Amino acid sequence: MTSIEEHTIAQNIARNLADVRAAIARAAADGGRDPASVTLIGVSKQQPDARIDAALQAGFRIFGENRVQEAGERWQPRKPDYPDLELHLIGPLQTNKAREAVRLFDVIQTVDRPKLAAALARVMAEENRPLPCFVQVNTGEEPQKAGIAPGDVEAFVAACRTEHGLNIVGLMCIPPAEDAPAPHFAFLKDMADRLGLAQVSMGMSADYPAAVTLGATHVRVGSAIFGDRTPRPA
Ligand SMILES: *Cc1c(COP(=O)(O)O)cnc(C)c1O
Repeated sequence: MTSIEEHTIAQNIARNLADVRAAIARAAADGGRDPASVTLIGVSKQQPDARIDAALQAGFRIFGENRVQEAGERWQPRKPDYPDLELHLIGPLQTNKAREAVRLFDVIQTVDRPKLAAALARVMAEENRPLPCFVQVNTGEEPQKAGIAPGDVEAFVAACRTEHGLNIVGLMCIPPAEDAPAPHFAFLKDMADRLGLAQVSMGMSADYPAAVTLGATHVRVGSAIFGDRTPRPA
């Protein structure tokens, strides 16, 4: 039996997913792009399980999480039931959690320093899981934010590939909260093109249509699909 509450959650999630997909299609058309070239990642961090299970029941399979431990608690028990699940790590990764991350996730979007690149490469080889990786770019050059400074990206991508043998597929960014995001999106897309990288992860609930118009191949959308997050206990 499905309770009334579960039924309501399922309807809300299905409606939100349809709305976000429609907005992606419009934004893709605006940019002269094929909407099928855009992967929608549902950011499930800090969301109640009921909402995530509703999305799974609606056939949705691609999720993003920003903390390894929290992601493991949610997804390890669900993985066996959903072999086509695709989990993206979109938050900062400590080198001592690299093995856990490589076992759990399918894509690492936050390669942001040489020490992490080396740790990931070693663990991926040992685990025989050569995962696709994105390099996180600190487009706003914010001192407190993770990511490679724009001027260092080319050399870092080259080092990831030649020194470590990582499979770098694209670039990812989180623009400064106080900036208009579009110039950051255009900048990241241009940089990816110049480096011959096909994939660009940019755009969240507040700005994913602009990101799609400007060339995002991956948008990371949380609250617009699942609703407001429950803050973690302090
Ligand atoms: C939380 C998070 C998102 C999703 O944010 P929403 O505003 O809820 O869409 C996207 N990307 C990253 C890196 C995040 O940490």
